[in-house]
Amino acid sequence: MDSSGKRKVAYFYEPEIGNYYYGHGHPMKPHRVRMAHALIVRYGLYRHLEVFRPVRATEKAMSAFHAPDYIDFLKNVTPDNQEDFAQQMRQYAIASDCPIFDRMFEYCQMNCGGSIGGATRLNYGLADTVVNWAGGMHHAKKSEASGFCYVNDIVLSILELLKYHHRVLYVDIDVHHGDGVEEAFLTTDRVMTVSFHKHGDSFFPGTGDSCDIGVGAGKYYAVNVPLRDGMDDASYKFLFDPIITKIMENYQPGAVVLQSGADSLTQDKLGVFNLSIKGHAACHKLMSSFGVPLLVLGGGGYKVKNVARCWTYETSVLVGKDRGMQDIMPPNEYYEYFGPDYRLHIPPDSALENRNRMETLERLRNRTLENLRNVRPVGASMHERPPDAVAGAEVVRKSGRSRSGRRRIGEEEEEEDGEGHEGRGDRGGLSDGGGESGSDRMEEDS
Ligand SMILES: [Zn+2]
Repeated sequence: MDSSGKRKVAYFYEPEIGNYYYGHGHPMKPHRVRMAHALIVRYGLYRHLEVFRPVRATEKAMSAFHAPDYIDFLKNVTPDNQEDFAQQMRQYAIASDCPIFDRMFEYCQMNCGGSIGGATRLNYGLADTVVNWAGGMHHAKKSEASGFCYVNDIVLSILELLKYHHRVLYVDIDVHHGDGVEEAFLTTDRVMTVSFHKHGDSFFPGTGDSCDIGVGAGKYYAVNVPLRDGMDDASYKFLFDPIITKIMENYQPGAVVLQSGADSLTQDKLGVFNLSIKGHAACHKLMSSFGVPLLVLGGGGYKVKNVARCWTYETSVLVGKDRGMQDIMPPNEYYEYFGPDYRLHIPPDSALENRNRMETLERLRNRTLENLRNVRPVGASMHERPPDAVAGAEVVRKSGRSRSGRRRIGEEEEEEDGEGHEGRGDRGGLSDGGGESGSDRMEEDS
């Protein structure tokens, strides 16, 4: 918080993001992040944000979760040489959903750089909320690409948060189950994963039934809320609010990661829900009301103009300026996309039936709340002292601020400063491909 009690919001954006291209006909379009950014700028929201350009995550940083041979493969394979990698392509599940495209690894490095850099800023107390709309790749596995995701920036940022926080809560409002993140932390109580998603009818990825609640020490620390087609704002709120409020009360996380996949919006090309932008953003409103460090990431979302609308409005909620958002859009670079009405908000589809019956929702809510009675604010006593990503020290150095009294897990004494990272090589920024810093401050209007 600053002196006026306002939440400090950092925002990571890579201007190149819109130029990455999965290929003709592929539903995932990184261009949507650039469209959202244009609206965020034209609505004047950047004035309330500290804007950073992410620095590429290194292979080493990615290997905190992923198998080094898998990362090595992603780094070396290109559209031109992929035939030489036929065996690895099969092994790592590279197929039409997850094609090899030009500068694919660089794209992953950018996404991860924003999320890890954001976690670092939260760890150091330099921001209360961090936004990285390019992140949220929740399906990627340790050695496997899945569902348009190659490298799991969410798992990597949670691992970074765990260096400073005993407990991290992960909340996923994408229409698909957050399987990659759940799997990574299935057996631990230090990360609680909560996913609200469509389940059944062979909907991707097929996991995330309500009886899947974690394993071993992680039992009760995975929560799945499986839903049917047509979820509307009221039904969503009916589940989300009491479940999340109870989790915050019982678990008391030190930090929260919110995956804000916009494919749960009405009219999405792959999604089957009927949420309005305000209904989707109500999750952000609730999450930021707890005053816990919050990392907000993107995710799915396949009707690009609505994704841009949604993430713009959610940015306004996170900076507390949603009331001033005019429904009639200001002129912007992508204005023609938003016709014929040129409005920020979209109406739910009145013809779409909500196939979630109230009795079923009530049962689901009650059963989930019942399970949550077993959840505690577990306080692990940690002996190991994982090193910060080098990114951390750099974030502090660039901003010229101190570490504001934050202590890493396992530290006995408060340290005065970073641990000599500052002398480690130059931070040439984005061009050297090996930059390890978490962020470069950007000009606000870029
Ligand atoms: Zn999705």
